[in-house]
Amino acid sequence: MQEFLIEMLQCPSCHGELNWKITQHQGDRIEEAEVNCKKCGSAYPVKEGIALFLISDSPRNDLWEQLDSQLIQYLRENPQIESKLMDTPLNTLNPADQFFRAQILEEREEFAQAKATANLAYSKLYAPEYLKCNNAQINYLIAQLSIFEDPIIDLASGRGDLAELLIRKLKQPIVFTDFSLQILRRNRRWLDFFGLYERVSFTF
Ligand SMILES: [Zn+2]
Repeated sequence: MQEFLIEMLQCPSCHGELNWKITQHQGDRIEEAEVNCKKCGSAYPVKEGIALFLISDSPRNDLWEQLDSQLIQYLRENPQIESKLMDTPLNTLNPADQFFRAQILEEREEFAQAKATANLAYSKLYAPEYLKCNNAQINYLIAQLSIFEDPIIDLASGRGDLAELLIRKLKQPIVFTDFSLQILRRNRRWLDFFGLYERVSFTF
């Protein structure tokens, strides 16, 4: 997360002021920190550059465990299906299967190929009318946001498709938020690969 966020954040539990003990920096980014509320004492960690503002009575260290997705687990148990999905020419797959293939490539961190495959799938998963409307909406949003210089907070970013477009088109810092740590981590690796991570922060 970027340092400017310190000014913007307060305790999600009681709205108290936060005390920041930063243990690892990278340029103007906070990679690791312990954050404590001065009022109610709640603790929030920053790990791997991701700020975890989860209100909970119990510590949730299990959230940081690395797990394979269910898709990867399924394919491991069914190698013949993996072969059908990954070893056949891409244009012989239907768009839904092309999308699954993109997901697998992504989990293997073959990001460039994953993006090309996902783009191909998207172009056929939706009707041309839908894609046209969707593009028009995004262009409208970008035009509206380009007037401002303040950071953009993208609520419930998910895989960050919209936020990624905003980074490519706009100059402001962008904060990705999501309730899944796995997806924020995935987004970090993805954006890093495409050289887009510099203006991005993640909070949970
Ligand atoms: Zn508090």
